[in-house]
Parts: sequence; C-alpha cells; structure tokens
Amino acid sequence: MQRADASQGLTTLSDDEALFRDSVYEFADREIRPHVRDMDEQARIPRQLIDRLFELGVMGIEVPEAQGGAGAEFFHAVLAVEAISRVDPSVGVLVDVQNTLVINALLRWGTDDIKGRYLPRLAARTVGAYALSEAGSGSDAFALATRAVESGDGYVLNGRKLWTTNAVEAEIFIVFATVNPEAGYRGITAFVVERGVPGFAVGRKEDKLGIRASSTCELLFEECRVPRANVLGEVGKGYKVAIETLNEGRIGIGAQMIGLAQGALDHAVHYTKERTQFGRAVAGFQGVQFQLARAATDLEAARLLVYNAARLRDAGQPFLKEAAMCKLFSSEMAERVTSLAVNLYGGYGFVRDYPVEKLYRDAKIGQIYEGTSNLQLQTIAKQILG
Ligand SMILES: Cc1cc2nc3c(=O)[nH]c(=O)nc-3n(C[C@H](O)[C@H](O)[C@H](O)COP(=O)(O)OP(=O)(O)OC[C@H]3O[C@@H](n4cnc5c(N)ncnc54)[C@H](O)[C@@H]3O)c2cc1C
Repeated sequence: MQRADASQGLTTLSDDEALFRDSVYEFADREIRPHVRDMDEQARIPRQLIDRLFELGVMGIEVPEAQGGAGAEFFHAVLAVEAISRVDPSVGVLVDVQNTLVINALLRWGTDDIKGRYLPRLAARTVGAYALSEAGSGSDAFALATRAVESGDGYVLNGRKLWTTNAVEAEIFIVFATVNPEAGYRGITAFVVERGVPGFAVGRKEDKLGIRASSTCELLFEECRVPRANVLGEVGKGYKVAIETLNEGRIGIGAQMIGLAQGALDHAVHYTKERTQFGRAVAGFQGVQFQLARAATDLEAARLLVYNAARLRDAGQPFLKEAAMCKLFSSEMAERVTSLAVNLYGGYGFVRDYPVEKLYRDAKIGQIYEGTSNLQLQTIAKQILG
C-alpha cells in the first residue's frame, strides 16, 4: 500500500487512501444520508443498508483477501469510520465495532480454526459484537461477574452483559467471562459465542440520547454451553484480548468523532452562507467566520491525533498514549463543534427538521464508551508520569 510522504503532513493521504475515503463518503452521502432521520427516529439500521456495507467491502477491511476481506490496513478502517460518521455516526459505529474490535480481536487472537470459521462470514454477511461491560463493571471492566465453568469439552456461561453495540444485528459475539473470580483479572477469558446457541439471548434494547440507530442491548447467558474451540486466546488471558483490542478500538472512536464533527461543520458552513440576517449572509460576519475558523482548527488537530495514532499502530510502533489522547481530544472537540453548529443554526438548530441537533446528541457518546474521558486521562497520566 502506497503511503503518503510524511513531509506532506500527517493528514495528507496517499492516492489509494484518498480514493478509498472519497468512495466511502460518496457511498454514505448517496445511500445513507437519505435515511438518517428515519433511522434515528425508528432507532434501527435497515438490513438492506447493512448488506450494502458488506458489498462496499467496509465490513471486513483487515480480513485477508483469501478469506474474502479487503486485506487492507487498520488505517483504512479509520478512514471508513470517519467517512461514514460524517453522514451518520450510528452506521459509523456499526462499521467501527465490526472492524476495530471484533475482526481485530479474531485476527490477533484467533486460532487458525477460529479465523477459518468466522472471518469469511464476517467479511461477507455477518455482523459481530463485543461484550465486555456489565451492569456493575464499566470503567472497572475486569470486575466482571459473568462466569464460565469448565464442563466436558467446553465451558458453561452464566451471567449478563450490558451495553452491547450491534447486538440486534450481530450473529457473532466476543464475550468476556471469568473462569475464576478469585483470580481477579487473571481469570478473565474471551469466548466466541454464536447467536442462537441454547442459553444465550439478546435482551432489552436501550433507548438512547444519541447514536439511536445503533443498537445497544443486554445479553443473557443461562447455562450457555460454548465449545473449547471457541476460546479466543488463552484461558485466563482474556484481559489481554480486551486491553489490546480496546487500545486500538478507541482510535476508531476518534475517527467516528472527527467524521461526526466534519459533518456538523459542513452543515454549519453551508447554512451560514445561505442564511441572511441584517441584509447579508450570516457567514459574512467576522464573529461567525472566527467561530468557524476555530472549529476547523480544532477538528484538524483532532484528525492529526487520530491519523497519527492509527499510523503508529500500523507501523508496529507504541501508540497507547496517542490512542488515549486522540479519543479524549476528538470526543471533546466533537461536542464543541456540534454545539457551535447548533448555535449557528439559531432556533433551527434546536429542531429535528435540521440535521445538527442529532449530531450534537450523537457526539456525547464519544466521551463515554471504550473508556470514559477520565479513563483516557488516567492512561495518559500513567504514560507521562512513568
Ligand atoms: C451507547 C453505548 C454503547 C456501548 N457499547 C459497548 C460495547 O459494545 N461493548 C461493551 O463492552 N461496552 C459497551 N458500552 C459500555 C461502555 O464502555 C461503558 O459505559 C463505559 O466504559 C463506562 O462504564 P460505566 O457506564 O459503568 O460508567 P462507570 O465506570 O460507572 O463510570 C461513572 C463515572 O465515574 C468515572 N470514573 C470511574 N472510574 C474512575 C476512576 N478510576 N477515576 C476517575 N473517574 C472514574 C467515569 O469517568 C464516569 O464519569 C457502551 C456504552 C454505551 C452507553
């Protein structure tokens, strides 16, 4: 894959990368945008749209070509999530979880058998989900209580997961449970669980402030038998699976946030050029121009952080601090930029007939999932304090 010359700047894309991002954005603009409001109101993503995402090739970006995927890099997943989130951050997070958490975890930790069974399906038609959080364990994720007890040639799972993104659409779930609660994080083990197996049910769907079309549900396990062959990574090493995938996943959330903020800024620029007050376009007032200029600068800084973290990851360089910084900064930036967009629409910014109130609602999740802002600060502080 041809890389952009670093001397051109971090946000300069190679021809391949630019072509890819533009083609995903054109798709989103053409095929997602007309449905954004309905999807938000109905709190669902139609299956036909998900099928189109598979056809486009953005549901298996890092899956090797031999297994039906695009065989591309993590950076391409970031570009796809950014381009889609510019139009709809709910569809953006569906693509994000599929690539940066589920496929990423399987590629890194899956046996050849697991990869052979699941990667071709994930690249072709099957949505995945990633279930770590529980009612009592969010930031302190490794305090999870879902239990896995060895039995015969496998494990029996009992417990409940909360907040599982993609749960309505998914057929493959990465589920974290403990084989030994006394061992603390060293008991945590990751399993691949298929929808439809006895003892596993998708429960209540949350009614949310933002990213409403993205499904978020409870998962219920009651005497759910999982074969030993579906242990992902080693028994007792699930904490490593979780830490390593989430470190990368949060770069994807950074991408969702820069895409979302770009979408809000696009709307604000367009609207302020059209809207006239005091006999001239609102964008003609220097006070408004300066606000837009500051938002564009804020967004560019966030994009630099996100692209830098993603490129470090693909280059095999350390990126823990950079990933935490990119998520922290881009999610706070997205709240600022979408809030400005609402302000610049005036009263029209406050009603559902115009697109910016939704993006303002959608932005809030960036500071919560895949580690709250406080947890990102904790990671950054640990890195700088040694
Ligand atoms: C829409 C949505 C989708 C989600 N999708 C998924 C998913 O697909 N898979 C999954 O596993 N999880 C998912 N989550 C869960 C998400 O990752 C958690 O909500 C998040 O990690 C925070 O956990 P919590 O809600 O339990 O908050 P808590 O951990 O209870 O935090 C409450 C507050 O305390 C603060 N806090 C906690 N500990 C500390 C500390 N040590 N220092 C300073 N402040 C602290 C937090 O920053 C926060 O402000 C999702 C959540 C939502 C809302």
